[in-house]
Amino acid sequence: MHCPFCSTDDTKVIDSRLVADGGQVRRRRECTACGERFTTFETAELVLPRIIKSDGVRQPFDEAKLRSGMMHALQKRPVAIEQIDAAVGRILHRLRASGEREVKARMVGELVMDELKSLDSVGYVRFASVYRSFQDISAFRTEIDKLERDTQASE
Ligand SMILES: [Zn+2]
Repeated sequence: MHCPFCSTDDTKVIDSRLVADGGQVRRRRECTACGERFTTFETAELVLPRIIKSDGVRQPFDEAKLRSGMMHALQKRPVAIEQIDAAVGRILHRLRASGEREVKARMVGELVMDELKSLDSVGYVRFASVYRSFQDISAFRTEIDKLERDTQASE
């Protein structure tokens, strides 16, 4: 990293240690040109990205909205609240791990669909019908009919 005193490109790390119970790395650096020393702190970037809506408007990520969208899709379906919580947790983890500062609302929708697909097929289609707004309405009907047949067959 650049020296904050003389702006030389290269500085070397002379000491590195964990601080804040391991949540942070403190590095002591020395400039190879002017010899000045300074300290840097490194922490993991774990904030949730902001959401870019389809009209370009940015808004803060809203966990409650994500959860209520999933609950709505899974209304009267045999899915335990613990399973929904776990799915929400996995989505938040993937968003944090992406390291992106902004993501498209559509990408969050895709993550939700991935989770619903493995939780409950009816909930998945309910959600997908809203978020993916099926291009072809007959394709949507076919999907629902298929799911109804599968459900009846397994009962
Ligand atoms: Zn320097």
